[in-house]
Amino acid sequence: MFALWRALARLVRQLSRRLGRGGGTTAPGRLLLRVSPDALDRLGGDLDRGAAVISATNGKTTTAAMCAAILERGGTPLVHNRAGSNMGWGVATALLDARSGAGQLGLLEVDEAWLPRVADALHPRAYLLANLFRDQLDRYGELETLAERWAETVAGASGARLVLNADDPLVADLGRGREDAAVYFGVADDSQALPELQHAADSVHCRNCGAAYVYDAVYLGHLGRYHCPSCGRRRPAPAVVAERVELEGMDGARLALRTPAGSAELRLPLPGLYNVYNALAATALALELGAPLDDVAPALEGFAGAFGRVETIPVPHPSGGTRPLSILLIKNPAGANEVLRTLRLAGEPVDLWLALNDRTADGRDVSWIWDADFELLAGHVGQVTCSGTRAEELALRLKYAGVAASAAVERDLGRSLDAAVAAGEPGRPLYALPTYTALLELRDLLSDRGLADRWAG
Ligand SMILES: [Zn+2]
Repeated sequence: MFALWRALARLVRQLSRRLGRGGGTTAPGRLLLRVSPDALDRLGGDLDRGAAVISATNGKTTTAAMCAAILERGGTPLVHNRAGSNMGWGVATALLDARSGAGQLGLLEVDEAWLPRVADALHPRAYLLANLFRDQLDRYGELETLAERWAETVAGASGARLVLNADDPLVADLGRGREDAAVYFGVADDSQALPELQHAADSVHCRNCGAAYVYDAVYLGHLGRYHCPSCGRRRPAPAVVAERVELEGMDGARLALRTPAGSAELRLPLPGLYNVYNALAATALALELGAPLDDVAPALEGFAGAFGRVETIPVPHPSGGTRPLSILLIKNPAGANEVLRTLRLAGEPVDLWLALNDRTADGRDVSWIWDADFELLAGHVGQVTCSGTRAEELALRLKYAGVAASAAVERDLGRSLDAAVAAGEPGRPLYALPTYTALLELRDLLSDRGLADRWAG
């Protein structure tokens, strides 16, 4: 019976692709999980080389795509949810490609809250757990609860390899007592350190004794080099390390990569320290899965960005010519701060088009914008346009941040984008900072105008 349901789900996927409609990355999996609740177990059983799962609050789509790029250089056949559809049904849809005897490895990005259930079904051979940040507050509740559920999941994963971020105390703790199974990655370059934790809300307490960790270096949100002043617990020594990190504004970053397999110089075409972390995580997992170090640098240097995360699209200007529109997703304070810090590196004042939506997939509560450090951009911006269902609140936030006394406000995405493009001369970059559903709307808008491919599905 299952074979029939699977064939039907494959047919649904083929049809939705042919019709060019959205939903092709989730609808077949939803259908299959409804009629066959153990579909994930069954589909996963066809992966000859087992599965590796990747989860994090920030960067998991980019990290998974980077890891896929490394593994594909070695010719490993992958089953991979490339479009970033990472809830159970997205994973199930991707697994429709699993075929017994094909020598495939599952490389699956999994939503943080779905990780326990997906892991229970797939029995992954490797877990890459990269970070846990406070996301939309009304989505999953407390961060510590999520960390607790992850801890239960990996405690039941005997025999699995754990690839963990040493710099995130919540994640690093998952490998305590499992030193033989865990491999850590982290940054070791104090030139990238911030003076202190940016928000009290980012503080993390020692799981061993409950005292607040003290940071010797803060790199990003609550990621850094830390120790417990009470019981002495400290950040584990990472095996895969980024040293001598140089951020080159929007153009990318350079770093020296140190791994148990040797060292390599790396030029990343993606901006910001957050992408350095993504590259480290992808490298650590790929090496753990048997990739040679020689494949890492060429794969990452040619990496063009996971779909929709960082891309630049030329948009026509009313007086002729185009303006390059660079799109950077923002969805929570830590991720937004990295984008803002990166924009500050641009060297000259930047023109911004921001879109804040409060649809379910964004989180209905948009109060997180008050925790993001828009102040970083004060004195660094030119024209500013606010859009989306909560455009007014965003404009108010920017006013309080001293970024823009009177940003242009227009809820309609298309009209506001046109106004933002027309407000500067051709050739001048324009930076788009949309929340998740605003990003999807923007993609549709640009593809309706023939400027970008429709969201792959
Ligand atoms: Zn302690």
